[in-house]
Parts: sequence; C-alpha cells; structure tokens
Amino acid sequence: MKLADRIFRRTDWYLTSAFGWRTLGGVTQYHQGADYGTNKQNWAQYALESGKVTSAGKDGLAGIYAWVDYPRLGYSLLYYHLSQVRVYTGQTVTESTIIGNTGMTGNATGIHLHLGVRRNGVYIDPHAIDYQPMGVSAACPYPEPTTTIGRDSKFADSVKWVQWHLNNKGAASPKLVVDGGFGPITEAAVKTFQKARGMVADGYVGPLTRAALMCPYQEPTKTLGRGSSGAHWIHWYLNRRDNAGLVVDGFYGPLTEAAVKAFQKKSGLVADGWTGPLTRGKLKNG
Ligand SMILES: [Zn+2]
Repeated sequence: MKLADRIFRRTDWYLTSAFGWRTLGGVTQYHQGADYGTNKQNWAQYALESGKVTSAGKDGLAGIYAWVDYPRLGYSLLYYHLSQVRVYTGQTVTESTIIGNTGMTGNATGIHLHLGVRRNGVYIDPHAIDYQPMGVSAACPYPEPTTTIGRDSKFADSVKWVQWHLNNKGAASPKLVVDGGFGPITEAAVKTFQKARGMVADGYVGPLTRAALMCPYQEPTKTLGRGSSGAHWIHWYLNRRDNAGLVVDGFYGPLTEAAVKAFQKKSGLVADGWTGPLTRGKLKNG
C-alpha cells in the first residue's frame, strides 16, 4: 500500500505535488517529498508502526512538524504543515498513535501533508514506496515449500507460496497471478527479487531465497556492532539460520555479538562480532 494509505487510514487522499524537480512561481527547486491533499480537511495522521519521535514542534517559518524514525523500515518520516502536533520529541509511537492533524502551517497555500522520507540521511520518493505492515507474511495461506523449486515445478501449492510472497514484497509489477504455475513470468520475478537483494539470481527458490521472501526487515547498509541499534534484520537471520533464539528488538547487545561470532566462526569468517558486508553476505547467501 502507499504510505499515504497507512498515514491517513483512508484512501481518498490525492497527490498534489510529486517528489523531484518542480517549478513554483518561476522558481525551480527540488521537492524533497510528496504532497497529499485531504479535500481541505484536517485529517488525522497516524504513525506507520512502532517508532520514535526524534523531533517535533515548530520551525522558523512557523510550520508545525514531526520527524519519526521507523527502525524496522530504516526510514525517517517528516510530517509537515500540521495544524497541530500530538506527539513530543523522544516519544515512542505505535501504529495507533496519532502524530498530528493535516494543516497549512509554514509555507503552504492550502491544507495538505508534505511527507518527507529519508533513508540513511538521503531523501527518497515517498510515493514510490510500497509499504508492507508488520505481520502480513503470517497471512500467507499456502504452506512454505520444503524443497527447492523452480521453473515448471509440479508442486502447485509451493509455487503459490512463492507467488504470494513475491507479490507481498512488491517484486512483480503488475502483481503475479497466484495460480501455482511456475512459468517465465514467475521466474523473472524471482530473479528480479534475488538481484535486488544482492543474491545469486538463478531463479530457483531454495531455503535462502525463502528466507529473503519472508524476512520483514530491511538489511542494514552499514556495519553494525556492539551497542548499535537497528539490528532487526541480523537478529531475524541469525534466528532463522542458526536458531540463535534472539529477541528481535534491534539492539546489538552481548547476546547478539556472541551469536554473530558463532556464526562467523562456523562460516569461516573472522569472528570479530561485527556485522559488515561479508557477514551479511554469508547470512543471506550461505
Ligand atoms: Zn511539499
């Protein structure tokens, strides 16, 4: 779903200005977000999921805003032009928290949400994101395959599982028909998915591709170690690959470090307890 669907908890919003270069009043500028109209209403704006408010208040133009970090996604969201903000800096939020209401404070000509999304400090297009709420994977009605499957597999339910998960990850556009037939279109979607995750793009769905299809967390883009946060992906993979029994809370404490060292040792890597590109590569590619 679009982030706007999740934020407003309704679907009758409309995009009024897209991310990227635009000209307003003769001035060309890079619009670092997407603007959403609310039919002039002060709709409530909800948190996506569990996260933390890193900053909330009023800026120099009297624009009311909140910045919220979502660790599972690796995104920071800016909610701007609010009529009022209903969270405070440092507050922990859940999916039922109302961040604030849509307004036109700051430099705005009408009531709308300016939504900014940063990943690793860089603004990305909010409207291009296919947001998947937590727990969606649990709803897959098909059993997880127990063997590697590929082109022309005869196991229709296993193929349906693959097709369902590829759709869930947004790997195919338009979405695949979940018909249990592993033809060229499904194979191409598997390869696209594997390539996007830095895996061997062979089109076969074995245990590691299944893990990647199910993992609800984003792979970290930097090296993490003792004391880091945002280690959900690492926890999830260590549990899946090594039965590490870690709590998936994102915190890289001594238990995480010990589990990483054990995994590194077993995998023939330097057992330094840090999770960098080589360790991540082993976790996802074997
Ligand atoms: Zn804007």
